[in-house]
Amino acid sequence: AAADAVPEREVDSLCPFCGVGCQLTYTVRGNEILSVEGRDGPANHKRLCVKGRFGFDYAHHPQRLTRPLIRREDAPKDAAAASDPDRALQAFREASWEEALERVGSRLRGLRDTLGGRALAGFGSAKGSNEEAYLFQKLVRTGFGSNNVDHCTRLCHASSVAALLEGLGSAAVSNPVMDVMQAEVVLLIGANPAVNHPVAASWIKNAVKQGTRLIVADPRRSDLARHAHRFLQFRPDTDVALLNAMMHVIVAEGLVDEGFIASRTIGYEALRHKVAPCSPELMAPVCGIDAGLIREVARLYATSRASMILWGMGVSQHVHGTDNARCLISLALMTGQIGRPGTGLHPLRGQNNVQGASDAGLIPMVFPDYQRVDSAAAREKFERLWQTRLDPHPGLTVVEVMHAIKAGQVRGMYIMGENPAMSDPDASHAREALAALDFLVVQDIFLTETACLADVVLPASAFPEKTGSFTNTDRTVQLGRQAIEPPGDARQDLWIIGQVARQLGLDWRYAGVSEVFEEMRHAMPSIAGISWQRLQRQGAVTYPCHSEDDPGAPVVFTGRFPTADGRGRFVPVDIIPAAEQPDADYPLVLITGRQLEHWHTGSMTRRSAVLDALEPDPVALVHPLDLAERDVAPGGVVTIESRRGRISLYARADDGMPRGAVFVAFCYAEAAVNGLTNDALDPFGKIPEFKYCAVRLRGGGQA
Ligand code: SF4
Repeated sequence: AAADAVPEREVDSLCPFCGVGCQLTYTVRGNEILSVEGRDGPANHKRLCVKGRFGFDYAHHPQRLTRPLIRREDAPKDAAAASDPDRALQAFREASWEEALERVGSRLRGLRDTLGGRALAGFGSAKGSNEEAYLFQKLVRTGFGSNNVDHCTRLCHASSVAALLEGLGSAAVSNPVMDVMQAEVVLLIGANPAVNHPVAASWIKNAVKQGTRLIVADPRRSDLARHAHRFLQFRPDTDVALLNAMMHVIVAEGLVDEGFIASRTIGYEALRHKVAPCSPELMAPVCGIDAGLIREVARLYATSRASMILWGMGVSQHVHGTDNARCLISLALMTGQIGRPGTGLHPLRGQNNVQGASDAGLIPMVFPDYQRVDSAAAREKFERLWQTRLDPHPGLTVVEVMHAIKAGQVRGMYIMGENPAMSDPDASHAREALAALDFLVVQDIFLTETACLADVVLPASAFPEKTGSFTNTDRTVQLGRQAIEPPGDARQDLWIIGQVARQLGLDWRYAGVSEVFEEMRHAMPSIAGISWQRLQRQGAVTYPCHSEDDPGAPVVFTGRFPTADGRGRFVPVDIIPAAEQPDADYPLVLITGRQLEHWHTGSMTRRSAVLDALEPDPVALVHPLDLAERDVAPGGVVTIESRRGRISLYARADDGMPRGAVFVAFCYAEAAVNGLTNDALDPFGKIPEFKYCAVRLRGGGQA
């Protein structure tokens, strides 16, 4: 946009990136967004980070898909196409919506009618609205006839969700991020909000300034560690050793809240028994933290007036991710640090709507509002609502779908707005699986690495091109409003889902997004009190909200937990090592994650001019001494290899990295780090181990 262009109108909406859910205003001229300003939303109070402020022009990028695409008859699929979008584009021809939808319908119907509903699967998106997530899972369950529906929650907090549902009966956060302002102690573990939730990090810094004591525990020294009262740089993969030792101290020194344990929990004796041998002296050599420091932070956390725990994917993305989260839940329960302002448990949600998409049922084991598909009562309720029989068996999760394709069990897929060819672990395996499908339809705004492997590509709408509700990490439902029209023949996602549903024989009659939301709130007790009109009027309402005069509940678990007996459950855990350990051939640990300027697989932010100019090239963060040992100068090219793949990229010296580890963000298609990661799964949350696998690194290669 010309820098001096005069805006014609302003549209109040939301940031499309992270789970903080900052409210913003687009300034628009014609069909072009000129700029973005922060609004006074409950999570941001006019603040925005660099992504929110500058990451909007991807919507106008010349590579936007504007016509449906159908694979040419003479263009066979192969996994290598995912890494060569120019070649992949030659494999498609443009088509009308009528022809593309007819192709999608006939191929999906054919597979369903000959092989059964479980031969199909769908991945929805945590970037889409609640209404899109709800209709997508309804389409899979009623149109495909199976529960094979999942999304990227499986890759971020599925283990946290498993532990929270088991321990507390609810997977959502207990307190909003803003409660750090009321906390006396904040324990931040396995999270890097300065990069991944920057506005949340700004509130944590404000809290520290006014006296909150911040404890940061992380194998990497992140920016927030500079603001920490105590920083625990524990060894990668040793979370349980550290947390069991903290609990040992709290028990041994009589710092538990006996009244809370007696009245609100079950299972404490087993927990006490489990942590009894885990003294700080015994665990210190395991986790690399001085025993005295473990004692100090355990006392701080247990004895403060109000202590809050926030965590991220450093906790969840391990084969013991559920165990890690179980320890955090036990810490809160044994000290009574939950159920009051400034206390509680907050797994920081990644995507802007991963909370809402999970709530809306984009998960293979549960219907909307976490009502289990194998519960006869829940199934009857949804069979009545949707007027059809439903599959009583939980479906396959993201990585399980890839294995089922290889085994010939899943033969057709519908992927809306996700990019598993970049985001799945052992991505070469995932790409081979996607290429092996009999039929793949991808709905997206760009020809992503996943779309390169499709049979049909449906051009969809970017965030500012549609209206819908989105639920942030604080359980706050907010309204994103349409600011511009989709380009060319691109269509709104809700319309596309409806058309695919029609092809599958479903007789849906929604007059618009508000009617979908209305059906949702009748299916989901947690949002029953949030009407579309109320959302339009207030812009943000926090659930649980049971009636229209219910103000909503930012802090939950105040009197009871939503379990059958109202009590929280302690689940003691043992130390389980990562699935793949460094050895003589692969002596380093690979840690993956995100970086400030880019979002997830980079499909949006790498097409945002300012953001891509700030971080244009893939980099590996390595401790300077590890680089020196290999004769690599900072800025030089390095090649990293695991047993599954190899990438070459630039080395960046970072003395916040632990020795013996390397960090790479997963947003760079030209150095797709998930080609290296391990697809070993946590047995409970089925989350892959993105935070730990064995690699080797040498200087040289072609970046
Ligand atoms: Fe967007 Fe998150 Fe940044 Fe807020 S903190 S502006 S929601 S990316």
